[in-house]
Amino acid sequence: MSTASKPKIAILGYGSQGRAHALNLRDSGFDVTVGLRPGGPTEIKAKADGFAPKTPAEAVRGAELVAVLTPDMVQPQLYGETIEPNIAPGACLLFAHGFNVHYGQIAPREDLDVVLVAPKGPGALVRREYEIGRGVPSVYAVHQDKSGRAEEFALTYCAGIGGARQNAIRTTFKEETETDLFGEQAVLCGGATKLVQAGWETLVEAGYQPEVAYYECLHELKLIVDLFYEGGITRMHEFISETAQYGALTRGTYVIDDDARAQMKKILAEIQDGTFARQWIAEYAAGNANYKALKQADLEHPIEAVGKKLRANMKWLSTAPQAPAKSAAAKSARKPQPEAA
Ligand code: NAD
Ligand code: MG
Repeated sequence: MSTASKPKIAILGYGSQGRAHALNLRDSGFDVTVGLRPGGPTEIKAKADGFAPKTPAEAVRGAELVAVLTPDMVQPQLYGETIEPNIAPGACLLFAHGFNVHYGQIAPREDLDVVLVAPKGPGALVRREYEIGRGVPSVYAVHQDKSGRAEEFALTYCAGIGGARQNAIRTTFKEETETDLFGEQAVLCGGATKLVQAGWETLVEAGYQPEVAYYECLHELKLIVDLFYEGGITRMHEFISETAQYGALTRGTYVIDDDARAQMKKILAEIQDGTFARQWIAEYAAGNANYKALKQADLEHPIEAVGKKLRANMKWLSTAPQAPAKSAAAKSARKPQPEAA
């Protein structure tokens, strides 16, 4: 690694995180090269944003810091075939999620610095917050410190994407991997979607209008989450009625009861002992049949058709910033829109 205070950066992948990191780092004055498979699905986007994408191998060769922002499941092969043979001696290898290093799918070459910078939010938000002069909080970690400056590189990158404007917290690859997987499975993505679907089904099965159930169980969640985001559960209590508070305080534990807590512990145990990682790696290797079927069931859940119809009349949604197609989480994290509450 050179002594440059702003290392030359290669960004591999131009999806949710890759695009946001590349644009933010460029705007922060870094020399950024985007590495993509020629003809790949995001090449057009990178070109439209003013980058001249190189092949991943070329981008890696010219870089002092290589950020691996492709899907987790393609990273081991990409590392073995493209990164390790081309990365400069002593360069810095950066991940946005600790999965492959923590679960032993990638064993980085010994001469490299190996760091993690994980923004705690989807890429669309990482970009939007940067543009309005704010940031998404990030965590960072050092796995391998050959140069003695690995932490400095992580913090420099963190500042470049905007995450160090907020509290950058030092973590470990193990802690980031395990907490990130737990959060997305039990609370943010898995827990939240199944809570919404089950609540909606309960009302509809009891004969209530699907549209009214949609507003109650899905649409209004945004109002609550915005209050959490701004001021925690305290702020929610400041804004909801006494009746809502009393109901929440006495009935929330009907849903999140001891059984639900035991299931959360099971989720965490399967992350910690590697069961989840092995299962996901095997699923991916076998062609994702189960993953695709489960996802299709979510996409075809009747609440989706009801929501599509109702949202067609929410004119403000069509002017809101567009999240990448797959990043549903980004949509719920849009800037507060009073009309929608
Ligand atoms: P993504 O699926 O949105 O984008 C992946 C990009 O990699 C695309 O440009 C795709 O064309 C490219 N790509 C796919 N296969 C490739 C290959 N074989 N060679 C080269 N390029 C290839 O990915 P993402 O969701 O941004 O995830 C990237 C990393 O960021 C992952 O490690 C993920 O865990 C982490 N992360 C994601 C989020 C999020 O909100 N999406 C948040 C924090 C961390
Ligand atoms: Mg994650």
